[in-house]
Amino acid sequence: SGILYLIPTPIGNLEDMTFRAIRLMKEVSLIAAEDTRNTKKLCNHFGIDTPLTSYHDHNKEIAGAKLIDHLQQGLDVAIVSDAGLPCISDPGAEIVREAVAAGFTVVPIPGANAALTALIASTLPTESFTFYGFLPRNKKERRKELERIYFHDATLLFYEAPHRLKETLKDVLDVLGPNRKITLARELTKKFEEFLRGTVEEAFDWASSEEIRGEFVMVIEGSHEMEARVEPWEMLSVKEHIEYIM
Ligand code: SAM
Repeated sequence: SGILYLIPTPIGNLEDMTFRAIRLMKEVSLIAAEDTRNTKKLCNHFGIDTPLTSYHDHNKEIAGAKLIDHLQQGLDVAIVSDAGLPCISDPGAEIVREAVAAGFTVVPIPGANAALTALIASTLPTESFTFYGFLPRNKKERRKELERIYFHDATLLFYEAPHRLKETLKDVLDVLGPNRKITLARELTKKFEEFLRGTVEEAFDWASSEEIRGEFVMVIEGSHEMEARVEPWEMLSVKEHIEYIM
C-alpha cells in the first residue's frame, strides 16, 4: 500500500532543500500542499512535475479523505507546507494520525525548521527546551498563557508574526519580567538574517524603535525560580504527618 512522506521545504534559502526531499517529491504520485501556488514555484525551481493538491486547515476533512483514498490505491503521497517541517505550526498532524490509524506507513524526512535553527544560535541553553509555536492572538489569552508557563525552566521557543511582535514582547516584559535573556532570530537563512541577543527589556525597546519586518523566532530563557508548591505533608497536622511518614 501507499506510503505517506512528510517532506520539509526551505524556510527561506532554496539551498536548504535536501536531495532526498527533491527525489521523493518527484517519485510520489501526489503532493498535498498547504498552498499549491507556493509549492508550484518550489517544484518549478527543482524540476518537479508531480501533481499537486491542496491540504490545509480549512479543507482537511475532505482533502484528508482523498489522500487516504490515494494511499489505499497503493499510491505514495507527500505532505509539504509553505516552509519548514509540515505538522510544526503547519498542517499535517491530523493526516499523520489518520494514516497511522488506517495502517499506512508514514516516513518523516528531516530538514529545515525555524525553531531549532534559531535555538542553536541563540546562546540560550539547548539541553532542554519547549516549543510553544504561536501564542494566542488575543491579548488576554496571550498573557494568561505566559502566566501559565512562568515557572517553566526549559528554554522557551515561540513563533510570532512581525505585526504582533511588539505587542507580544510587551506582554513578555510585563508577565515574565524585564531581565530574562532573549534572542530574536530574524529572517533565518535569508539575505537579512539577524540575531538580536539581549534582555527582554532590550528586545522590547528595540521593537518599539523599529519598523518590524521579516519573520521571527523568539527564544526566551526559562525560569530560574521554583514554583511555591504545597507539599502533601504541609497540609497535615503533626499527628497526621507522623502517620504519613511511618
Ligand atoms: N513549519 C515551519 C517550521 O518548521 O519552522 C513553521 C511555519 S509557521 C506557519 C511560520 C512561522 O515560523 C513564522 O511566523 C516565523 O515565526 C517562523 N519562521 C519561518 N521561517 C522563518 C525564518 N526564515 N526566519 C525566522 N522565523 C521563521
